[in-house]
Amino acid sequence: MQPESQVTDGTESPESTQDAQNIESTQRTESLFDFIDGTHEDRLTAIHQEMAYINTIGKSFVAAIDRFHVHRALLKALQNLYSFSACCILLKGDPFELSIIPCHPISASFLQDMLQRICNAANVIDFPHVTVEQLMKVAYFDAPDEVAQYRTQEAIASTEIGSSLNIPLTVDNRIIGMLSLFDELIGTFDTKLLAMTGMIADYAAVALDNASLRERENALWRQAELERRRLELTLRSMTESLLIINELGAIVSLNQSAQQLFLQEKIDLKLDIPFREQSMLQTVSWLPSLLDIIDRALAGQTITNQEIVIGQRGEIVPLTLSVNASPLHDLSSAHLRPTGVVVVLNDVTSSKQVERLKDEFVSVVSHELRTPLTAIKGYTQHLVRRIERRLRKARENQQLHTQQLNELPESYDLRSLNIVQSQTDHLERLVSELLDLSHVQDGQLTLHYSTFYLADLLAECVRSVQMSAEQHTIYLDIQVQDTHVRADHARICQVVGSILDNAVKYSPHGGQITVALLQKEDNYLIQVIDQGIGVNIEHYDHIFERFYRVRNAASRQYAGIGLGLYVAKAIVESHGGEIGFFNNSRGIGTTFYFTLPEAQHITS
Ligand code: ADP
Repeated sequence: MQPESQVTDGTESPESTQDAQNIESTQRTESLFDFIDGTHEDRLTAIHQEMAYINTIGKSFVAAIDRFHVHRALLKALQNLYSFSACCILLKGDPFELSIIPCHPISASFLQDMLQRICNAANVIDFPHVTVEQLMKVAYFDAPDEVAQYRTQEAIASTEIGSSLNIPLTVDNRIIGMLSLFDELIGTFDTKLLAMTGMIADYAAVALDNASLRERENALWRQAELERRRLELTLRSMTESLLIINELGAIVSLNQSAQQLFLQEKIDLKLDIPFREQSMLQTVSWLPSLLDIIDRALAGQTITNQEIVIGQRGEIVPLTLSVNASPLHDLSSAHLRPTGVVVVLNDVTSSKQVERLKDEFVSVVSHELRTPLTAIKGYTQHLVRRIERRLRKARENQQLHTQQLNELPESYDLRSLNIVQSQTDHLERLVSELLDLSHVQDGQLTLHYSTFYLADLLAECVRSVQMSAEQHTIYLDIQVQDTHVRADHARICQVVGSILDNAVKYSPHGGQITVALLQKEDNYLIQVIDQGIGVNIEHYDHIFERFYRVRNAASRQYAGIGLGLYVAKAIVESHGGEIGFFNNSRGIGTTFYFTLPEAQHITS
């Protein structure tokens, strides 16, 4: 469909005022088609000439690689038809654009008039409403020197528009913009040439549409390239070693850090050859562990902070890597299997070293604290006994009743000593937790096995905790006939004690606590169910970590250093059992549980 074109002149009768140059230009273009009315041969020649002309124009538009080349091709094609002052291209878009392509210098008032006419014409065709101010903001000049046409001084000096032509630019019946031609002279745009002008506009529209697509594509490429460079720089400057593995388990890319690590460990790995094949040829002891991590990630698992000890360096701790591996999924594909894996290896040797020093410090300090603590405990006990004896005698000799007895200075001393004793007990518990921590860390948690009844042990623990938990009622629920077990009595007592203590501590409003003994396959299952504050989901994975305490009102109120559950876990696991917890249904409290193998023979 040929879009409607508008030809307007500056005067009432345009034909009457065409100047010499305009006539010359029109003659040049008319010469191509004037033969149409002549003989058959003349007409054939004219058709050939017209086709050659269209072909040349078409080629120049096809060859245009960007909008500026399109402007030149357009200008050349139009200048073959008319001689004019300026050509403007208004393109839709967000924001829209206006290119002003003058053929010779134009005056400010000419420009202003052009903008006003473009606005008027744009508002007539299917174009979003535009104002002169908006056009001023988006307009840019593209004045190609080589095609600029200089005119007589008289024409250049003209400040008024004599004639103009507006043609919608369409691609597939979609209006993408508008082409406007302007001249100082009246009647420049010969209506006989409208069809040809429309065809040139069509070529230009397609070429501009393609150029804008190409521009957008180039911008995307540039953006992608920028991102790629940024990523490359980030990877290069990373202190962590990074490996990118493909679905066949071959390294496809590795950063500098990883290269250095492999070099220093004398590992010779080639890109694009499956890791498994290559690792068989290497004698490095830790490569199978890395391979295992990669295999698991390729199977879809995400591995976080898995440590690999890669060798002795004569330091306090061996060189240790913490490995994270994440499967890569192709989001555009329906395949669930990962298309690769990203592996990050982080050297954690120095933090291990700091941890080791800290552990040693804790171990030494707790050992050193034990001796004075034993002395304080012993002497306090001795003093308590002496005062108690004296008070007994005073009561017997002087026949004092309780009120009078409480007012004696010895009674005051006894109360103070009782406080010293309870605080010493607390300190002793902390010191023994710290000592246990050192033992667990060094793998020296020795167990002294004996055979006993689990029901008796639980009853003993319940009794002892109940004595200092006035707000709570602790029930014992034994659902097993034979509770015979072979284990370390003191250590299991410690586990139950820690869990029960916590059940009391973390249910500050009191309530019921149930200690249940059940059978679970070949294991005993011990559960401690409380009605306390529960554990928020974000702490689930950390509760059994050393020194981990949830920060809440209850933990601020009650003393603790976050070691009870850590040590309990180590004890249960060294008995071959499991420990865990879950929040009770309806959000009331927590159930901590652990399992112990039945009275099977366990060697100590
Ligand atoms: P702590 O000395 O802090 O009690 P633990 O290792 O025994 O150390 O417990 C670790 C953390 O687990 C506690 O600080 C507490 O926040 C949480 N916790 C343990 N038992 C319970 C429980 N029964 N209810 C709620 N939170 C608990």
